Amino acid sequence: MMNKPVNCNVAVIGAGMAGMAAAIFAANRGLSVVCVGKASEISFSSGCLDLFSRIPGSDMPAFDNPFEGIAALTKLQPDHPYAKVGREDIVQGFEEFTGFMNTSGIQYHCTPETNQKIITPAGTLKSTWCVPSAMYAGTRALAEKKKILIVDIRGLKGFGARQMAQSLKKHHPCMGSVTVEFPGRETAGDLMCERLTWDLETPDILSRFIGVLRPHTAGYDTVGLPAILGIYRFEELKNKIEKALGKTVFEIPTLAPSVTGMRTKEAFLGQLPASKVRHYPVMVKDITHGEAGFSFEVSEGIAVREVRAENLILATGRFMGRGLGVNASGNIREMLFDLPVTQPRDRREWFRRDFFNPKGHGVNRSGLETDECFRPLGRGGKVFHPKLYAAGSILAHQDWKREKSGSGISIASAYRAVDHLA
Ligand SMILES: Cc1cc2nc3c(=O)[nH]c(=O)nc-3n(C[C@H](O)[C@H](O)[C@H](O)COP(=O)(O)OP(=O)(O)OC[C@H]3O[C@@H](n4cnc5c(N)ncnc54)[C@H](O)[C@@H]3O)c2cc1C
Repeated sequence: MMNKPVNCNVAVIGAGMAGMAAAIFAANRGLSVVCVGKASEISFSSGCLDLFSRIPGSDMPAFDNPFEGIAALTKLQPDHPYAKVGREDIVQGFEEFTGFMNTSGIQYHCTPETNQKIITPAGTLKSTWCVPSAMYAGTRALAEKKKILIVDIRGLKGFGARQMAQSLKKHHPCMGSVTVEFPGRETAGDLMCERLTWDLETPDILSRFIGVLRPHTAGYDTVGLPAILGIYRFEELKNKIEKALGKTVFEIPTLAPSVTGMRTKEAFLGQLPASKVRHYPVMVKDITHGEAGFSFEVSEGIAVREVRAENLILATGRFMGRGLGVNASGNIREMLFDLPVTQPRDRREWFRRDFFNPKGHGVNRSGLETDECFRPLGRGGKVFHPKLYAAGSILAHQDWKREKSGSGISIASAYRAVDHLA
């Protein structure tokens, strides 16, 4: 069954950080937007917005000031996506994105010229630019050398408070740890964050959890918990625990899939109707294109609907997002338009022997070449289609994992692309 076609100014393919940002920016400019895509890498993210920290393989230490880092990076690597975006655009893009998330219930703390630190479940400090308010008391406590208690929950996998406090002692000596039982789950065996997150939304369990925490917090200024304080009401739950304990409380992101990443996604999806963005959580198989624009089908239950778009933003990510794949001859290919992909010449150059090699792996820099406004280049080096744009991790010449630039590249490239088409 075919539903009536939908016409729009912009179709965004991808609902990860880049697709979300592009949809928001386009809707804010009064354009009609269709956004297509399923759960993305965002569900694994810490929820912090990274801008830039480190040049992979260079002798330079991590940058405290992300903009100094980007200036040094783009001098060394003029084909990096950040070289196509000015500082003003990055700042405005972040302001617009965080403003949108704020109306959806997630507030970020960003310091203009400096990266901030958060505690990771590996017991390391991670540099990031914008910290969600649920984690911010931890960032402040680290900066102000306050006494921090890290709490873990017996049975919770991948989160060891003792090991974290031990590893972090060299950076922050006044740190303690405790393991507590989660009310009602004392005999449950392995625990999942998502389960505890739902449990804590129940007032009785929340108050018993506070009772379990209370005897351990004397002498500490702030309490770090695994990120389990709910998907939607986390500020309310955090405030209740803080009030009851008389301490500030912060969350530490957990291993994937992370509640903090899910929150980001839910906040975005929840705000889409108000922004008049139509979202289809499906995968697009084929896109036809011509002078008038683009056309593809999305499924709606048992029915199918055609989407006709004047412009298209390709924000389909790399391998995990499914923007890139590998063909039978072992070459990396772009999955929807078969756009040329810059990649190592030989498969043996995809990976280095040492997984943690600071230079990174060749395969992680593969992606699309674009012009200055992020329009992908076709074979022959010419713009593939005047109204096709690309944003996010699908872009070539960047290793967001090692650079700590995941959200930054996504937001900045989406901002620049939408600015050009609007
Ligand atoms: C474990 C982990 C932790 C991370 N932590 C952080 C962090 O702390 N801070 C930070 O800034 N960044 C972090 N990131 C990176 C960040 O989440 C994003 O991965 C990055 O910003 C790139 O986003 P993207 O939108 O380009 O791609 P993706 O997130 O991969 O999204 C691609 C989207 O395209 C869609 N798609 C693909 N093909 C199709 C198709 N044919 N039809 C329809 N839709 C399609 C997918 O469904 C998906 O929605 C982390 C990533 C991972 C994996």
